[in-house]
Amino acid sequence: MNHDEDARGLMRADHGAAILARRQPLPGDVNVSFEFFPPASGAMEASLWTSIQKLESLNPVYVSVTYGAGGATRDRTHATIARILGETSLRPAAHLTCVGATREEVDAVARQYLDQGVFHIVALRGDPPAGSGPYRPHPGGYAYAADLVAGLKRIGDFRISVAAYPETHPRAASPGADLDNLKRKIDAGASQAITQFFFDESAYLRFLDRVLAAGITVPVVPGILPVTNYARLVDFSKKCGASIPPWMAHLFDDLDDDPETRKLVAATVAAEQCRALYANGVRDFHFYTLNRAYLTLAICRTLGVRPKGPRGGPAATRGA
Ligand SMILES: Cc1cc2nc3c(=O)[nH]c(=O)nc-3n(C[C@H](O)[C@H](O)[C@H](O)COP(=O)(O)OP(=O)(O)OC[C@H]3O[C@@H](n4cnc5c(N)ncnc54)[C@H](O)[C@@H]3O)c2cc1C
Repeated sequence: MNHDEDARGLMRADHGAAILARRQPLPGDVNVSFEFFPPASGAMEASLWTSIQKLESLNPVYVSVTYGAGGATRDRTHATIARILGETSLRPAAHLTCVGATREEVDAVARQYLDQGVFHIVALRGDPPAGSGPYRPHPGGYAYAADLVAGLKRIGDFRISVAAYPETHPRAASPGADLDNLKRKIDAGASQAITQFFFDESAYLRFLDRVLAAGITVPVVPGILPVTNYARLVDFSKKCGASIPPWMAHLFDDLDDDPETRKLVAATVAAEQCRALYANGVRDFHFYTLNRAYLTLAICRTLGVRPKGPRGGPAATRGA
């Protein structure tokens, strides 16, 4: 067929080339990391471990485990981290928050992690438990994440990640104040930031420009959330200040009772988002797995990150 003009005169050769270029497999020259939350029941634990075992094969740089609101999951977070250390080759990063605890209590948890061999902490202010009103620092505690980062650095040579907000933290006085806060966290000793999830890549890329202009040179890794439950996402987005673009609302509209279609749409949206970020030079990706492997596996595959196959299949290629 003449590629200058097809039967309907719709496709010209240059358009065809652009489409083919978009479909070229990516080389897998990216670093991936995965977030899990501690399971609340035996069934959830079994499903988490199936996911961890599947995702381990992608050779992530690290996997992180969240700390429930107000430290509610403290023991379960520790148990999950301990099991990851004991049963996998993965490097765990433990989330730690300031909420509802004295400095001494938080420091004791950090020292316990050091003794266990956990050297990476995701240091957060944390959110208070639902229904307990706005955040108030504990009288004897670390008030904000920047204070926690400084405290952790006094305890040991942790690698520390902190949170960043491309669309601004909902309680920040202004986008500029929020950026100043991010800089304080980096200046206190954090070596990277992980963003709140977002669906508008241009918001993230503009944020990176502002981050650089503010003199922040550490990686600010995009947090990728594959949408598994749209109704819950809407609720959560309101609280954390992430916006949902109208095109996305339209895509998931009416799919609440159709989980199979929803999964396929979710994978497509997140894969497109990751490929768009990749096309703009992004090479580090942090996935909010929600303890499920299938979406993250599919999206990583579109980025060229493959499991190390039992038959000597291609291994994920690693950058720095
Ligand atoms: C990657 C990631 C992982 C997360 N994991 C968890 C988790 O495991 N457990 C959990 O409970 N939550 C978690 N969260 C949610 C997080 O705890 C909330 O977003 C929380 O509201 C803010 O935490 P932060 O560390 O960003 O806070 P901070 O950096 O301390 O900032 C909080 C707010 O206070 C403002 N601020 C900072 N310092 C001052 C100051 N001195 N005076 C006045 N205002 C100030 C900031 O601008 C911002 O608006 C996570 C979020 C992200 C992005």
